[in-house]
Amino acid sequence: ATPMSIMTATGRGAQAGVLIKNAEALERFEKVDTLIVDKTGTLTEGKPRLVTVLPEPGRDEAEVLRLAASLERGSEHPLAEAIVRGAEERGVDMAKASDFEAVTGKGVRGVVDGRAVALGNLALITDMGLEGRELADKANARRDEGETVMFVVLEDEIAGLVSVADPVKETTPAALKALHDLGFRIIMATGDNERTAKSIGARLGIDEIRADVLPEDKARIVRELQAEGRKVAMAGDGVNDAPALAQADVGIAMGTGADVAIESAGFTLIKGNLDGIVRARRLARATMRNIR
Ligand code: ADP
Ligand code: MG
Repeated sequence: ATPMSIMTATGRGAQAGVLIKNAEALERFEKVDTLIVDKTGTLTEGKPRLVTVLPEPGRDEAEVLRLAASLERGSEHPLAEAIVRGAEERGVDMAKASDFEAVTGKGVRGVVDGRAVALGNLALITDMGLEGRELADKANARRDEGETVMFVVLEDEIAGLVSVADPVKETTPAALKALHDLGFRIIMATGDNERTAKSIGARLGIDEIRADVLPEDKARIVRELQAEGRKVAMAGDGVNDAPALAQADVGIAMGTGADVAIESAGFTLIKGNLDGIVRARRLARATMRNIR
């Protein structure tokens, strides 16, 4: 591409809310056939809200929420904020947790009122040798609504579950339709549960879902698709997404996301929604057409 055509494209991109890092990103983007999107914070608002608290028989709902929220005060994860806020809104008083520990991609652990408490997904409780048997059907019903379920463990027994909902961004459905029309294959990658991911993916017409993905796995998924000969763009907002953004042929960061994601990306979508990708593709095509 000529410096002039690149400058024009960069200027038009900026006006449309797409920051283009360099000419290579724009040139590579024209050849991209596969778009991987992170779920939380990219397709969804990334601001989940507490929906349900379900105690095991014999346990108290307020106590289950109190244990969960006391622990999550030590975490900066969006799921943690939802649980703490939910407890505050419901007037549940929280205790001070100690020995707090985050288990990446799985949950959190610590001590509340001198008792060991853990909170997290199926992988976390499986690691502890527990099964969600009593609550399994109820957990699946919540997941089929697109909610994320977390189990609350008190001293090696499941005490209950909490679920949160993270609404899809208003702009997401139309943007995905336009991206499909432009010919992209769209893959959703998420650390969330498969059932939750499928419920959201089906509503949005996503082509393929990779769920239960650990943070380090996102970059590997990009590499595998590239090894199959695909040209891959990855859109994400989180610290966890940065290695995958760097590995992709074109990394696309949400301007509302983590700084390290923005640094790793070729494009930054200032408005933090996927509309910008549609514009970027049209710009890439127009620029490349002009110079050929
Ligand atoms: P994503 O790729 O969707 O941003 P993460 O890797 O951050 O996902 O988290 C994956 C899963 O791990 C979550 O869906 C949740 O079940 C569990 N998890 C992670 N952090 C926490 C936390 N602070 N509290 C409870 N569960 C958590
Ligand atoms: Mg995210």
